[in-house]
Amino acid sequence: MKTDGLGRNTRVFVSAGASGIGRAIADAFLTENCRVHICDVDDDAIADFLNSNSSASATKADVSLTEDVERVFEEIQKQFGGLDVLVNNAGVAGPTAEIENVDPAEFRRTVDVGLVGNFLCSRRASPMLQTTKGSIINIASTAGLAGCPGRTPYVAAKWGVVGMTKTLAMEMGKHGIRVNAICPGSVEGPRIHRVIARDAERVGCSEAEIRDAYERQTSMRCFIDAQDVAGLAVFLASNSGRYLSGQIIAVDGNTESFANPLEDK
Ligand code: NAD
Repeated sequence: MKTDGLGRNTRVFVSAGASGIGRAIADAFLTENCRVHICDVDDDAIADFLNSNSSASATKADVSLTEDVERVFEEIQKQFGGLDVLVNNAGVAGPTAEIENVDPAEFRRTVDVGLVGNFLCSRRASPMLQTTKGSIINIASTAGLAGCPGRTPYVAAKWGVVGMTKTLAMEMGKHGIRVNAICPGSVEGPRIHRVIARDAERVGCSEAEIRDAYERQTSMRCFIDAQDVAGLAVFLASNSGRYLSGQIIAVDGNTESFANPLEDK
């Protein structure tokens, strides 16, 4: 994949970048010699990330809090003097339950981190990106493309991210800013294992059956790796993607349906 135009002059911020997909994205931009700042809520994960990446920097911050996001962007301005790429990666899985059993506080938390956090960072980054004709990359989900039984809060947050991507691409295009979303399918890692365990409990079957059902939802019968998402993020930020905007791109082996065949058991 061509990733031309990226390098030491490219300043990148990745939210929730200390572990998981965010960390893979931060690592991929560092490999392209970009300057990378991350934020995260997890002290240990931040320490581990900085230990492995001495040229990167980080702020401990919760993206759902306006004052935390303010601190992050003050730090970016101080360190970098501007911003070229914003990667809105933060998002929590939220509860797995039928809607009558979803705790309103958990619904709000899922939307606060996954959608409001995305808004707060985009809002704060906008003047900086107008100066640089920069790019926003939102990490949505295939759950932002269809319904997903038992995951109302997460699906609502991710459809919101997709809607915001489409709208901001229209609003910001005149400034030369591109806005795109990546929709990963199931990504190998601890988080999807927790989601599978909760789904197995809800439906009343084994975790192996749920994993098999998730795989069969895709044409390629697959889960993906965080690096598959990171590679596309780097491409979208590069000159090779210079006329890509307003696009919602799934990296998922082609999800055919979210209907879970086990639900009819
Ligand atoms: P994860 O649960 O592994 O968490 C990654 C990081 O987010 C952690 O370091 C955590 O401390 C941090 N974090 C959590 N809440 C935060 C907050 N309020 N502010 C700042 N940081 C916070 O997540 P992941 O699996 O790497 O997912 C990253 C993104 O990709 C999310 O938006 C997620 O919805 C999306 N996604 C994940 C999958 C998957 O299968 N894992 C699939 C599709 C989309």
